Amino acid sequence: MSAVLQTRNLVKKFGGFVATNDVSLNIERGARHALIGPNGAGKTTLINLLSGFLEPTSGEVVLKGEIVTKLAQHQRVKRGMVRTFQINCLFAEMTVLEAVSLAVCERLGLGGHWWRPLAAQRDAVDEAAALLASLHLADVANEQTRNLAYGKQRLIEIALALAAKPQVLLLDEPAAGVPTSESRELFETIARLPREVTILLIEHDMDLVFRFADRISVMVNGALLTENTPDEIARDKRVKEVYLGEALDG
Ligand code: ADP
Ligand code: MG
Repeated sequence: MSAVLQTRNLVKKFGGFVATNDVSLNIERGARHALIGPNGAGKTTLINLLSGFLEPTSGEVVLKGEIVTKLAQHQRVKRGMVRTFQINCLFAEMTVLEAVSLAVCERLGLGGHWWRPLAAQRDAVDEAAALLASLHLADVANEQTRNLAYGKQRLIEIALALAAKPQVLLLDEPAAGVPTSESRELFETIARLPREVTILLIEHDMDLVFRFADRISVMVNGALLTENTPDEIARDKRVKEVYLGEALDG
C-alpha cells in the first residue's frame, strides 16, 4: 500500500445534514489526484477534514500510515500535509520574498525571530528566493504581495504552502476568481511541481482536470460516486449524469 493519504469511513454531519458520507479515499504517493463533483457535493468539507480545519463526526484521516484525525492543523503541516490559505493582511504588507522567507522560517522553527541577522535566516531567505525562482516568480520577489495581480497572488499562496516542504499539497479551486488569461500560468506552474509532492486538487474546469490528473474521484451528495483514471471517468455514464448540462457534456 503506497497511499500517502487516506480517509476511512469519514463522516461529517452539520446538525442533521450529512456533508461527508462514509468517504474512504486513497491518495497514492506522487499522485496528481483530482476531486470533482457538483457544487455542494462536499469537496471543500473533505479538504477541511483532511487539513484539520474541521473535526469529523466519525471515521479516520491517515497520513503516511499515521492516524491524524485528532491532530491540529499545524501538527498536520509539520507531518507534511499543507493546504493553501488566502494571503492575510500581514502577508499583504510584505514583499513576496519577505513573506515566503517568513514561511520558510516558520518551518525551521525560527518564527518570530526571522529578522535577526543570523546565518540560518540568510539561508531561509536564500531558500525562499530559490523557491520563487523555481515558480518563475523571481521578477516579483521585491513587490508587495497586495500589489500583485490576482493570479500572481494565488501563485504566492502556493509558494507559501511549498515553503513548508509538504509531501501532500491540498489545492481547493486554486484558480477561483482568477481571469482566464492568468489561470493558464497558474496551472502550468502547478503541473510543473515536483513529483515528490502529492497533489489533491479540487477544480471545476474539466479541461484543466483532465490535463492535470492521473486519478479522479467523483463526489456527489457527500459520498464518493467513483474513482478511476481520467479515461475511465470520461467514459462513465454516471459521471456524465451528475454533470448533466455541465462541463463534461459541453
Ligand atoms: P463543495 O465544495 O463541493 O461545493 P461544500 O463542502 O462547500 O461543497 O459543502 C457541502 C455541503 O455542506 C453544502 O450543502 C454546504 O451548504 C454544507 N456545509 C458546508 N459547510 C457547512 C457548515 N459549516 N455548516 C453547515 N453546512 C455546511
Ligand atoms: Mg468548494
